[in-house]
Amino acid sequence: MECFSAPDFDRHEQVVFAYDDASGLRAIIAIHDTTLGPAMGGCRIWPYASEAAALTDALRLSRGMTYKSALAGLPIGGGKAVVIGDAKHIKTPALLAALGQAIDRLGGRYITAEDVGTSPADMAQIARVTRFVTGITRDGAGGDPSPYTARGVYHGIRAAVRHRLGADTLAGVHVAVQGLGHVGAALSQALFDAGARLTLTDIDSARCQALATRLGAATVAPEAIVEVEADVFAPCALGAIINPRTLPRLRVAIVAGAANNQLATDDLANALRARNILYAPDYAINAGGIIQVCHTYFGDDATVDARIAGIYDTLLDLFARADTQDISTLAAADRRARERLTNG
Ligand code: NAD
Repeated sequence: MECFSAPDFDRHEQVVFAYDDASGLRAIIAIHDTTLGPAMGGCRIWPYASEAAALTDALRLSRGMTYKSALAGLPIGGGKAVVIGDAKHIKTPALLAALGQAIDRLGGRYITAEDVGTSPADMAQIARVTRFVTGITRDGAGGDPSPYTARGVYHGIRAAVRHRLGADTLAGVHVAVQGLGHVGAALSQALFDAGARLTLTDIDSARCQALATRLGAATVAPEAIVEVEADVFAPCALGAIINPRTLPRLRVAIVAGAANNQLATDDLANALRARNILYAPDYAINAGGIIQVCHTYFGDDATVDARIAGIYDTLLDLFARADTQDISTLAAADRRARERLTNG
């Protein structure tokens, strides 16, 4: 397995392989960049097909966190932890303690939080052995970042509608939402409250129907969501929903949603642009959660709402830069994040 020459290595500062025989812990902690502050990013527990796949995921995700936090103007860098195994089988108090000790040994260079396969309750367990953990409220209860992510996406959609459709309100704007989990359901509610018209889908059809009934929304089968004729497509399920197969089927003016890695490959940002579809870069629009966990960690909750509302201005700025510089919105976001890393 290649390490320094791995395609996704991208100048990581430090990559740690953490092992504990007694609990079965096999974890990779990737610290990408601490220029702006300690690396912060979730801990994912996943049954990776190989150790190489786990390393790739850790490297990609930690790099993504560097860019996301830099763009959001946060005083933190990018990192991520991945634990190899099926959370349902391997997640024990002993494993979480061993993971916490591995994080503690890094002396604060990496601060963990919840991600796929971990929960706020797991973070509370990890907090018994290290203080370098967030995603828990000060009274020790769980702090789910999803409502904050949804709020940020809502503001991002407002910005995209302002830029692309010239409208200051979401009243009557038609949004097709894919995925009605923690973020998608809260986003749909916020859009409904703002007067938007909704078309919803989820592979959990009972969940979809219940929300649609409550919000008076239309529903479509999961595979049909990409061809709904609407103003906005909001992907809030899994990654890679924009790919060469789905791109020609899109009938929207805007793609703006919560899902990470919405584009199967970065060059699709140019393809969206060529079709005059405004793309809100995923890591710019879904930063509400990291804004909240970062501020909670540093004990600065008072400014969270304003910072999340700031996603509106961040996106308007990116859209303007993309227009002026004649580049995709994703390229504009990458450039802006790199500027912050260089200039602080
Ligand atoms: P979740 O697991 O709570 O919800 C995902 C939903 O998508 C589920 O209801 C699932 O049934 C549905 N789904 C899965 N595949 C689908 C498909 N093919 N078609 C339709 N529906 C499908 O996850 P979440 O926390 O709401 O996160 C949603 C997305 O946002 C993920 O990509 C996540 O990485 C990203 N994200 C979440 C946060 C956060 O704070 N939770 C922060 C940043 C990014």
